[in-house]
Amino acid sequence: MDLFEYQGKQYFARYDIPVSPGDVALTVEDAVAIAERIGYPVVVKAQVQVGGRGKAGGIKLADTIDEARTHATNILGMDIKGHLVERIWIEKASDIDEEYYASFTLDRAAKQHLLMLSAQGGVEIEAVAEADPDAIVKLHINPVDGLDLTTARQAAVDAKIPERALDGTADILVKLYRCFTEGDCDLAEINPLILKPTGEVHALDAKVTLDSNAEYRHPEWAEYSLTEVLDDREQLAKSKGLQYIGLEGSVGIIANGAGLAMSTLDVVNQVGGTAANFLDIGGGANADVMAAALDVINHDQSVKSIFINIFGGITRGEEVAKGIVEALGRVDLRAPIVIRLDGTNAEEGRRILAEAGIPESTLTSKPTMLEAAHAAVAIANGSN
Ligand code: GDP
Ligand code: MN
Repeated sequence: MDLFEYQGKQYFARYDIPVSPGDVALTVEDAVAIAERIGYPVVVKAQVQVGGRGKAGGIKLADTIDEARTHATNILGMDIKGHLVERIWIEKASDIDEEYYASFTLDRAAKQHLLMLSAQGGVEIEAVAEADPDAIVKLHINPVDGLDLTTARQAAVDAKIPERALDGTADILVKLYRCFTEGDCDLAEINPLILKPTGEVHALDAKVTLDSNAEYRHPEWAEYSLTEVLDDREQLAKSKGLQYIGLEGSVGIIANGAGLAMSTLDVVNQVGGTAANFLDIGGGANADVMAAALDVINHDQSVKSIFINIFGGITRGEEVAKGIVEALGRVDLRAPIVIRLDGTNAEEGRRILAEAGIPESTLTSKPTMLEAAHAAVAIANGSN
């Protein structure tokens, strides 16, 4: 789950990472009231989950109440790269001497956390990586050992962060790492991390992605779910409790187990198709879950065929089949189904499907994953 900048800053503040005082507004009047309360100069910042807001005109300095009102009026309702600005964040403006970059992510291949640190912040890190890759220090952190102040300071030295900013940077890195680990983030990024003329180091921006798998141990995340930006398909899937991620292709995918779902995407790609989504109905899925999954896929306008790939372990073939039959009775499917049903009670499942009298144009059964992928992709690509 991606947070807005203001939520990210509030999250940072829980871990004592210095951020500017500010508040969020949904209306011009609220924005002006916040600016008056904080005192000028303030920065008016569009809250959208996309980078480059500054360049797009979504970040403006205001020295007076009139400027605050003008900027709030202009920025609210603005379209930034397809994102509508519904909220603005007003914060005390900072004086900036230098801009750095810091982030923590998980490096899955290395099975370690990864710190990226650069003295060249304030621009997109991808641009720095392209123009001057050596300007980014990458440090792997063993999650068992964690990150101590000495190591953090050395990383800052290696990143050529100047002497007077070293202690402040190291302090923030240790706090940001705590936020990343204890706060269950997939990403915790500060760009820019600024050095003020006073010598203080400070987070001027916040990009935080929370690991939704950890939601159960963070009751305080409930408020973030309220503002979560999901497309219609994801919204529906979430309301039905499904593990769904919307993609751009034309083959709707339903599989049981995340591993099988991902392999299904791979196979669809290998035979020349593109997946419309990732959808894992999990182990032990019953008829209701299958019906809900089909309902979600059916709402996706780009879906041209639906590939159901089930290898039953705990999930039972007859439950899957019942779910499909039930769903077909409830919803008017926009695209034909190709199913590969194997594993526990697969034969009974296939018998249920056969006896339901579903026309071949609506559902075909294939014995292997590869054959089913070929069939689903052929339909989606219009070459059947
Ligand atoms: P982004 O463009 O969406 O990443 O938004 P940021 O929050 O990173 O802001 C972009 C740029 O606006 C920063 O790199 C700063 O140069 C500038 N900026 C933002 N806040 C302030 C501020 O308080 N004072 C000054 N002087 N510049 C700011
Ligand atoms: Mn930024």
